[in-house]
Parts: sequence; C-alpha cells; structure tokens
Amino acid sequence: METVNNVSDSTLAEKDRKHLWHHISPYNEKQDPMVVTEASGSWITDSEGKKYLDAMSGLWCVNVGYGREELANAAYEQLKKMAYYPLTQSHEPAILLAEKLNEWLEDDYVIFFSNSGSDANEVAFKVTRQYHAQNGEPNRFKFIARYRGYHGSSMGALSATGQSQRKYKYEPLVSGFLHVRPPDNYRRPEGQTVEQFNLECAADIEQKIIWEGKESIAGVIMEPAITGGGILVPHPVYVKKVEEICKKHGVLLIIDEVICGFGRTGKKFGFQNYDIKPDIVTMAKGITSGYLPLSATAVKKEVYEKFKNSSEYDHFRHINTFGGNPAACAVALKNLELMEKENLVDRSRQLGERLKEELEELKDHPNVGDIRSLGFLMGIELVKDKDTREPAPPSLLSSIIGDCKSRGLIIGKNGDTVAGHNNILALSPPLSCTDEDFEFIVSTLKRVFNSHK
Ligand code: PMP
Repeated sequence: METVNNVSDSTLAEKDRKHLWHHISPYNEKQDPMVVTEASGSWITDSEGKKYLDAMSGLWCVNVGYGREELANAAYEQLKKMAYYPLTQSHEPAILLAEKLNEWLEDDYVIFFSNSGSDANEVAFKVTRQYHAQNGEPNRFKFIARYRGYHGSSMGALSATGQSQRKYKYEPLVSGFLHVRPPDNYRRPEGQTVEQFNLECAADIEQKIIWEGKESIAGVIMEPAITGGGILVPHPVYVKKVEEICKKHGVLLIIDEVICGFGRTGKKFGFQNYDIKPDIVTMAKGITSGYLPLSATAVKKEVYEKFKNSSEYDHFRHINTFGGNPAACAVALKNLELMEKENLVDRSRQLGERLKEELEELKDHPNVGDIRSLGFLMGIELVKDKDTREPAPPSLLSSIIGDCKSRGLIIGKNGDTVAGHNNILALSPPLSCTDEDFEFIVSTLKRVFNSHK
C-alpha cells in the first residue's frame, strides 16, 4: 500500500473524515476524499498513485505549474534571510514586488498587500469609502456589482458577490451592495445583437446609479470576465461603457483580477483586453501561482493622494498581520520572473486560440449550447435542448466530469447559481501546459463528449 509520511491511505482518509472540514463541499461520509500528495507541471498525484492533469490549476491559480524549484528556493532563501516583519514599516521583497506589479499594470498604482482575494476586495471597499469621505463626499457608500460575480467569502466580499446560494445562510450581510444583471451573451434576448445587449447591460449600471442617487454611489466592482459564475466574456463595448459611466458619475471602478490576472486571459491583467484604466485593481491566486498566500490591492496614484500626508485621523486604518509576508512576496517576484522568461502570457493567448479551434467540433454535440473563452480560460455551457437552451441536468455534468476524471483529467463546473443551474464546464489549465498536456486535454475531452452522444 502507498504511504504518505508513513501514514497509510486508509488511515489518512479516516483521519480526514474525523478532523478536516473541506471547503464548500457537502459532507459525504461514504466517499473518500482525493488526498493529493505530489504535483509536478500540470499533473497532480493522489495517495493511491493515480495521476491527473489538473485543467483547473487547483483553484484557477497554479499558473506556472506545480513543482517549480525556483519558487521553493525563493521562499527558502527569504525565510532564512528575514522571515517576517510587518508592513507598518517595510521590507525589500514587498518594495520590489510593488514596483514589479506597477510594471505589469502599466500605470501608476500604490500597492496594499493582504493574504487572499477576499482580503484584497475588502481593502478596495474600505479605501473607496474613505476616499470619498476624504474627498468631501461622505455619503458615497454604495457599491454596484453584478449577479453571478464572485468576489470572496468574507462578509464584505460576500456582499459584493452576486450568487445568492452562497449568501442566504449568512444574511444579513453588509449593507450598501447592489446588483445588476451581467452580460450573459448566450442568453441575451432574441433579436438583439451582442453589442446592443452589452450596451443595454452597461446602461443598467447607469440607471442604478441614477435611481439610487449618484451622490450615494462609491464604486462599481467587476471581474473583466465573470469566471466562477459561468465564464461570461463581455463584448468590449460593455467594459468601455462601464468605465465611461463610472467617470461621468464620480464612481470608482474596481476591477477584480483575482482569477483573470497574471496571464490567465492572454494579457498580463484581464482589463488590458479592454483598454480601460481602473481606479483600483485587486489580485491574488496567480500572483504566487498559489505557492504561498498573497494578494494585493492596487490603488491608482490619484486615489492614494487623498490619503497622503494624512493626519492621525484620516490615514487608512487597515492592518493585516501576514499581508505582504516577505517569503510570499519573494515567491511572487520569482513567479513573475518565470512568467516573463517563459513568455507565459503569450502562451496563454496562443493555447487559448488553439483550444478554441480544437474544440470547435464540440459545438455539433447535441448538449453543447455555447463555448466561450478569453485567453486560456474556457466555459462550455451544456444544455438539454439547443433550441430552448434549457440547462442540462446536473447528472450530465457529473457524468462528463466523472468520465474525464476516470481518464485522468480534472475539469471544473460552475454557472448561474442564482437560477440554480450549474451547467457550465470550466477549463483553466496551467499556462505552463506543455504541448503533450494540451493534446491530452483536447483528446480526453473529445473522447468523453463522443461517449455522451
Ligand atoms: N474574486 C474572485 C474573482 C475569485 O474568483 C475569488 C476566489 N475564487 C475571490 C475573489 C476570493 O479569493 P480568496 O478565495 O482568495 O479569498
């Protein structure tokens, strides 16, 4: 029997059931968890020695792939040299990483480090509210987000999230978070072009601002493309229009790059696909490729100016013990260096294009309603009936995901949790994916879809 740290498989599973609370997974006494013991490149190995290509990069984060010694060494060297000091003062890895992030953002931002995507969004909300107060508009406290968007699990970030299934057990949440419909192009009203529909969705945001009273609106938060809510890629007119509306009404635009950042969409950051300049950019996951916890809130210089030389009373009263941990920053720096050296942002775009071409034939499958992608991020929406677009039953998704897994391929699932149908398959493989890995993803998906006709 395979052993892990001299603990046998069955003992691990038993100990898991006894002591470990899995994230967002129903408690299932009968099913053993997959205990992952090793990982290298795009592949993970479980405690039984079975290998899987992880086409979800963990939770959309292992952008440079698993097992990179350079990242392990960066953490080791930094931990030996200087393991910890808080960012109430400063340290070299945080300074250098902040500089590097500005290079990637292609503009002037000031960087506030935290530990998770949720943290980064909480910082964005607090900065935004305080910015308006210090700008003489203390009544601007509301945020507009989109249904189906996900922004995190802490109370503020969950309030911004537009997926009611994740929220209703924890209400009341933070007040002042409003939602509008996202541009779901596949399910747009009949007779509308994608462009018309996207302009109409952007107009919803302006209408909300006007009806709520523009002097009460602090910010709009959105992902460049909705990821966890079903891979909804907007038409460029939508994103440009939202930026224009925010500017017109003095509202800050917060772009959540927690998944879309660091090459996932074929650009360094997702918003760079749309020629906009966000006021605040939040990021996590791919910043360290998931090797250590780290997130950042990048705040435009003009916004930061309102906090500069502030007194004891109007500085930003936010602290985070582990935010910007030196080893995490050192790993992030090395991670970005690897991405640059290996041209992983370009590779993401190229692999994304190839994936779209290769999977074009799946569109003839009776249950494939729509395939959409941006960079190396793809959603395949499954339907029961292509004419009515009625979502496919959960059993079909489970069966496809299960068959992929039994052939050694891990893919994801998400969708419109508000309407209760999780009918979209998700792919977000490591950007370091080799040509052989790529072929394996494509051939496995084709085989599995063929067996489900
Ligand atoms: N924003 C987006 C777009 C996300 O996908 C996530 C996590 N999946 C978060 C925020 C929250 O990140 P974390 O889980 O690190 O708090």
